[in-house]
Amino acid sequence: MTTTTPEAVGRSRPAKAPAVFDAAAARKDFPILGTLVRGKPLVYLDNAATTQKPRQVTAALVGYYETSNSNVHRGVHRLSETATRLYEGARAHVAEFIGAAEPAEIIFVRGTTEAINLVCHSWGRPNVAAGDEVIISGLEHHSNIVPWQRLCEEKGARLKVIPMNDRGELLLDEYERLFSDRTRIVAVNHVSNALGTINPVAEMAASAHARGVPLLVDGAQGLPHLGVDVRALGCDFYAFSGHKMYAPMGIGVLFGRKELLSKMPPYQSGGDMIKSVTFDRTIYNDPPHLFEAGTPNVAGAVGLDAAVAYLGGAGQDAIRRHEEEVLEYATGRLGDMEGLRIYGTAREKAGVISFTMEGVHPHDVGTILDTEGVAVRTGHHCAQPIMERFGIPATVRASFGLYNVKADVDALVAALGKVRSVFR
Ligand code: PLP
Repeated sequence: MTTTTPEAVGRSRPAKAPAVFDAAAARKDFPILGTLVRGKPLVYLDNAATTQKPRQVTAALVGYYETSNSNVHRGVHRLSETATRLYEGARAHVAEFIGAAEPAEIIFVRGTTEAINLVCHSWGRPNVAAGDEVIISGLEHHSNIVPWQRLCEEKGARLKVIPMNDRGELLLDEYERLFSDRTRIVAVNHVSNALGTINPVAEMAASAHARGVPLLVDGAQGLPHLGVDVRALGCDFYAFSGHKMYAPMGIGVLFGRKELLSKMPPYQSGGDMIKSVTFDRTIYNDPPHLFEAGTPNVAGAVGLDAAVAYLGGAGQDAIRRHEEEVLEYATGRLGDMEGLRIYGTAREKAGVISFTMEGVHPHDVGTILDTEGVAVRTGHHCAQPIMERFGIPATVRASFGLYNVKADVDALVAALGKVRSVFR
């Protein structure tokens, strides 16, 4: 067996991304899509929870471990130099991919959750005081609620929430009214994981900045479907998870504007985040290393790099158009089903359809779909306040990735027909 180095695997990006995305061809890159589940071909519609990984990513991981594995930043030997080059190369490629001004604005973390906790800890604690206010939205995942809630509890600050309309769109007039001279930060998601709403984050950042307030974007669902240019969005922080964008689990990114990062104290402490240590005093390293204490997930960064190359090569605009077509088709087909109600009908949507079926608990829907090989998510999707807003305990969520095609939607509709026949 020959092993390819991750450098060779990961970065075969064509000079110009194609205008049209060929999903049928892309499916061949994802071996898991050719497997059977309960004797039926897998129809994977749980991409908002995590995406599958293309061969290009798994080959980069295997290649890394078989040819280049070592610890980074510390060794003078060849393997350590290679691993360091791969790790820092991944940082540079991610920076370029999301339009960061420089690689030092990219901090590798475990995922979106850790990225938000880092900001709450290192930016929030020094900048939020008693009586101050933090604005989030009613559309947030728990990971963009609970860390802010805890910060507010600790500091005696107040959490304010942007409400939404019945379509699941944020009320921007209300957003404007929530600002006061005590507002310290705004934290909103780019795309809602429960309803699929695309939030106008560039507009929201401009409003916040007009008042001198920074804005964090939870991009866990934004980057995989829309791509991102952090400079065009004008956000101060952007958090995302590798595993939701075809990269391995356990690696994610916090983008932070250098101006803010350079004033933030460390998050965790230990090796690599220091320049020198004595028992009297530690001199800290500069960002991004200041925020990456301990041995990082080098293989994860290599895999993320390969996923970035994969998305860049396919062309994120082309992927977006393809996904929009599939989502529109699914919305039409599910919308035609009797007794099925779609939650989240925003004019701007990506990746997700949440729904309930009259007379059937969402978990039962999910269980029966599974017997047909159709994988969806059921429950509150870590967004309980959204469920509360709509007066329901749970939904069924079909969420799409770049490899989903209209035939997957047809399979979902056929399987829902089976649910209906069981619960007639
Ligand atoms: N934010 C959103 C919108 C999400 O969908 C998720 C995961 O589902 C997260 C945050 C948390 O991501 P992770 O579990 O990868 O940290």
